[in-house]
Formats: sequence, C-alpha cells, structure tokens
Amino acid sequence: MDFKNITVAGSGVLGSQIAFQTAFKGFNVTIYDINEAAIEKAKERIANLENTYVDYFKEEQEAARSAQSRIQYSTSLKESAVNADLVIEAIPELKEIKEKFYTELGNVAPAHTIFATNSSTMLPSQFAEFTGRPEKFLALHFANRIWMNNTGEVMEHPGTDKEVVEQVLQFASAIGMVPLHIKKEQPGYILNSLLVPLLDAAQHLWGTGVADPYTIDKTWMIATGAPMGPFGIIDVVGLQTVYNIVSTKADKHPTPEQNEFRDIANLVKSEYIDKGKMGMQSGEGFYKY
Ligand code: NAD
Repeated sequence: MDFKNITVAGSGVLGSQIAFQTAFKGFNVTIYDINEAAIEKAKERIANLENTYVDYFKEEQEAARSAQSRIQYSTSLKESAVNADLVIEAIPELKEIKEKFYTELGNVAPAHTIFATNSSTMLPSQFAEFTGRPEKFLALHFANRIWMNNTGEVMEHPGTDKEVVEQVLQFASAIGMVPLHIKKEQPGYILNSLLVPLLDAAQHLWGTGVADPYTIDKTWMIATGAPMGPFGIIDVVGLQTVYNIVSTKADKHPTPEQNEFRDIANLVKSEYIDKGKMGMQSGEGFYKY
C-alpha cells in the first residue's frame, strides 16, 4: 500500500472524523465539500476533533496537535482529486447525489485513484458503473466516533480488483482501524446485519408490552456478559435516528395508521423525544448520562 494523499469527500459527521483520523495517522488529507459554508463548518468540526483527540490520546499529543497541519480544504472536486491515491466518499445517503458525485469524480480523478464509499445502507455495485473504474471501487465503512469505535469494514463488489481490496485493508490498518474484510456484498455489512435485528427485537418486546426496556437490557447484559443492552445502544445511536427508522417501517406497513411499528414510534416520541430525551448526546434517553 503506497497511499500518501487521501481525499475525503463530504465533511459532515463521519467525513470530518475520517479526515481527522487519517491526518492523525500521518497522511496528507484534502477535504472536499460543496461550498464555502460547508467548508467553514468542516473547519469547526476539525477543530473540535482536535480537542477530542488531545483528550483521548494522552500518549499521542504531538500527532493530535499536528493533524490539522496535514489537512487542506477545497470546493473544487477536480483540485481535490488531482493528487489523490484514495478518495473516501462520505456524502449524504441519497442515491441521486452519490450517482452524480461518482460520475463527476470518475471524470476528474487520475486513472490510478481508488474510490471508497462510506455508505451505510447502499451497496458498492449500485455505483460501480458510475465511477468509470468499477475495479478500483469498494466500500470502506467506518463507525461513528471512529477514534474509539475503530472498525474498518472493507466490502468489495463482484467487480473489485482483489489487489485493490488488499490495499484498502492495509490502509484501514494504517489509519488505526481494525480491518474487517467482507468478501461478499451484504446490506448493513456485518455490524448492522447483527445490530438491526437485535434492536428490532428489543423494540418489539417493549412495544407489545412483554417487558420494559430496563428488564430487556438486564436480561441481555447478564445472560451474554455484554456491557450494554439494546436500549443502551439506542441511546448511543440517538432516539431521533431510531424514531426515523421505525417511522419509515410504519409508513411502509400495509396498514400504516395502525401497526406495531407505529405504536413503537409513538412511544419513543411521546415518552422520550417530546421530553428532550434524545439519547446519550442530550444527557438522557432511556438512561441518564
Ligand atoms: P452528514 O449529513 O453529516 O454530512 C454530509 C456532508 O456531505 C456535508 O458536509 C455536505 O455538505 C456534504 N455534501 C453534500 N453533497 C455533497 C456532494 N455532492 N459532494 C461532496 N459533499 C457533499 O452525513 P454523515 O452522517 O457524515 O454521512 C455521510 C455518509 O457516511 C453517508 O453515506 C452515511 O450513510 C455514512 N455513514 C454515517 C454514519 C453516521 O453515524 N453518521 C456512520 C457510518 C457511515
């Protein structure tokens, strides 16, 4: 793996973390975003991340404090891509936006540049043809709070070159992730393939009145030795996100007005969201922090 210059496209929640982590580990990083306002926001996020890293990595103060000096910003996709060995895409989870982005990127990036998507719910094969270089395209999926939740799920699509997969696995390791190779396309990768059914089952038990969230969590934690139960995990994800997911399922139900998902969504809204209990970030969700 001889990557030196990494471009991160999209500098929101995850893009800013990926950019900072990559610079923290010594790579040159270019952040690309759509306009000056987004770049200003990115600079704020990056400055906040410096504080987080300085606090978290007590033994690596120098790397944390110098990371920003390795980050450049641009609103030109062409300029951002011209020297890139790898472009990591972390733009909004919308098919049309990503299709347009990959079409443009494929036209301006040098032939050797590898593209990786951080998409949580879409498969690389959905975008492979738009890139113009399907063999150099795959998914590299990070978890929120990358500095501590350091999984690097590397998922190929049927057309990805094996050598490219190997290089991206090595890169994930070089930036401090635990590289996790997913050999076949799988919606939700490994993590969400396990987590989503667990959270769904927990909400079902609660929503149908079988048990309260605390009893459900206690059962899971005592019986498996896990440090958190499903409702503790929902607090970390954020109740708004969970509400959005459950509401979407309710809307798709054959009887959208009356179904179990609607009952759960209503419970989450009236008991938590309406009371400002948004999860760990707000100081309270199912638990107090
Ligand atoms: P976000 O909304 O916080 O940030 C998106 C960023 O992309 C913004 O800075 C926006 O200005 C920029 N953007 C919009 N259109 C663009 C374009 N055409 N070109 C370049 N930049 C553009 O989103 P996020 O939560 O960081 O998610 C980004 C991607 O990462 C999604 O695919 C999501 O599924 C994935 N992801 C998110 C999380 C998470 O916990 N938030 C975790 C893993 C993966």
